This record gives sequence, structure tokens and C-alpha cells, in this order.
Amino acid sequence: MSLNYDLHSHSIASDGTLTPSELVRHAAAQRVGVLALTDHDTLAGIAEAQQAAREAGIRLVAGVEVSVTWRAQTVHVVGLQVDPAHEAMQAGLARLQAFRDWRAGEIARRLEQRAGIGGALEAASEYARGRLISRTHFARFLLDRGHARGMQDAFDRYLKRNCPGYVPGDWATLEEAVAWITGAGGQAVVAHPARYPLTATRLRELTGEFKDCGGSAIEVISGSHSRDETLVMAKLASRQGLLASAGSDYHGPENPWVELGRLHALPSGCVPVWRDWGMDEAAVREQAAG
Ligand code: AMP
Ligand code: MN
Ligand code: MN
Ligand code: MN
Repeated sequence: MSLNYDLHSHSIASDGTLTPSELVRHAAAQRVGVLALTDHDTLAGIAEAQQAAREAGIRLVAGVEVSVTWRAQTVHVVGLQVDPAHEAMQAGLARLQAFRDWRAGEIARRLEQRAGIGGALEAASEYARGRLISRTHFARFLLDRGHARGMQDAFDRYLKRNCPGYVPGDWATLEEAVAWITGAGGQAVVAHPARYPLTATRLRELTGEFKDCGGSAIEVISGSHSRDETLVMAKLASRQGLLASAGSDYHGPENPWVELGRLHALPSGCVPVWRDWGMDEAAVREQAAG
């Protein structure tokens, strides 16, 4: 019996809209057998998700999506199977959260000065309810106040590079992110590699440096990849000697075009990042026993 893996998802601990328990129950209903919770720059949702996964009878992979600045470009590195108690990782993520807090004030200041939109910090903080603040919370505020027609529009008009509310990232280095993840016993994965504004050459350089500093895999299957992009990333993985991961990047039911557990199989030739996790055999044994 082959398990259904979805190794990239978000909860309200970062910019998702379901609680960790709701997310896990939804994954179980979607017949996901192995779910990774990978909130941006925080492990705050993991304990609740672990408990919910035990109750729902699915496997929860402790994960995180670390924000990285690589050659002045933001890229995301997912950590899978990390020890959430690992101190160097916690300290590193605390630094990124502090940058997020500072950036939130700066986004609000710029929105006020450059676009005449006040009250953004108070509103975004309220949406985040004391948890980590993301640009997604600012986008919801802009949408709800009628400044944008949709989330994408809010990003396009106010939050992306060259927009009034844009603040350049000052995230972890690639080396730091991979070191935190591998130091915590996990595997590092380049998230949604087709989404970055990088040429094929630069993407090869990114994945090459990533592998040199101990990275394991890239997301070949992503909720944000087209079929063609998937095939290009499958080739890149095999060329670079990297394993292949699969994750929806689910943020909640508000984006119905991204669903948990609805991913294509990895293209042939890919070596799954979960190859050595021993989970499929466990599933077979359980089936045999039950
Ligand atoms: P942050 O890490 O706070 O800079 O926010 C990045 C998050 O914003 C991503 O993880 C996405 O969830 C969301 N996001 C980024 N770009 C867009 C976009 N164009 N449309 C909708 N959501 C976006
Ligand atoms: Mn997000
Ligand atoms: Mn991402
Ligand atoms: Mn994500």
C-alpha cells in the first residue's frame, strides 16, 4: 500500500487559515497519509498538529518553511523531519520572527507614506492574532478595506517589489537555513523552485550551492507548478543529484484551486525525499496486522 504524501502546508501559526488541528483533520479527510506542517519561520503549530495526527491516525512530519535571502532574492527552504526542540534552529527562527516584526512596522509606515493607507499595522496584527505577521495578513487587510480586488491584486499593487509597501527581505542565508535544518536532524528542500524569477542557469547555481551546503531535495511536485514545470524540475533534480519532494503549499479552503492530497505522482526517475523514512513499510505492516 502506498501512502499519500503532502509535505508542504500552512496553519494559522503563520499565514494559513486553519488551526493545526483543523488542518490535520482536513488532511485525513482528503486521505493524506503523511502530512508535513511547514509554517513560515515558526514551529509553533507542530505540537498541536502532532496531537491531532495521533487522534486522526495519520503521520505528521514536523516541518518549517525558512525564508532565505539568496543574491538579493527571497527563496524558501522547507525543512522536513526536524526536531522542533533544536536550540540553534529555534534561535535562528526567532531572529527571522524579529525581522518580521520590524518589517511589519516598516510595511505599515510605507503604506501610509506612499499610498495614504493608514492603520495597516493594527489591522495586520489583529489578523495575525499575536502570531507571526506575514505579508498575507497585510493583503487581507488591503482586500477587506477595498484597496484591492483580490489577494493577488493586493500583492501586485502594494506588496511586491517596486510597490509602495515593499520592504526588501533580510532573511537567513542559504547556509544558515540548511545548517539549522540539518542540525535539527531534518532534510532541507528547496520549495516551489519554479516560482522564483531566476533563469535556468541561476536556478542551477542555487540548487548547486544548496546541495554543497547539505541540502537534500527540491519540490518537483508543488501546488504551484504546472505539468511542464514539474518535468523541468524532475530533470533538474536528477541532474543535480537531489531527491524529489511533493507538497501542495495549502494555506486553507479560501484558495480552492490548491487542495491537500490531490498531487500528481512524482515523475519516473525521481527519488522521493521520503525514500529512507520507512513509512510505507510501516503502513504495509499495519495493514497486514489489522
Ligand atoms: P512573507 O513571507 O510574509 O513575505 O509572505 C509571503 C507569503 O505571501 C507567501 O508564502 C504566500 O503565501 C503569499 N504570497 C506571496 N505572493 C503572493 C501573491 N502574488 N498572491 C498571493 N499570495 C502571495
Ligand atoms: Mn504563505
Ligand atoms: Mn513559499
Ligand atoms: Mn509555503
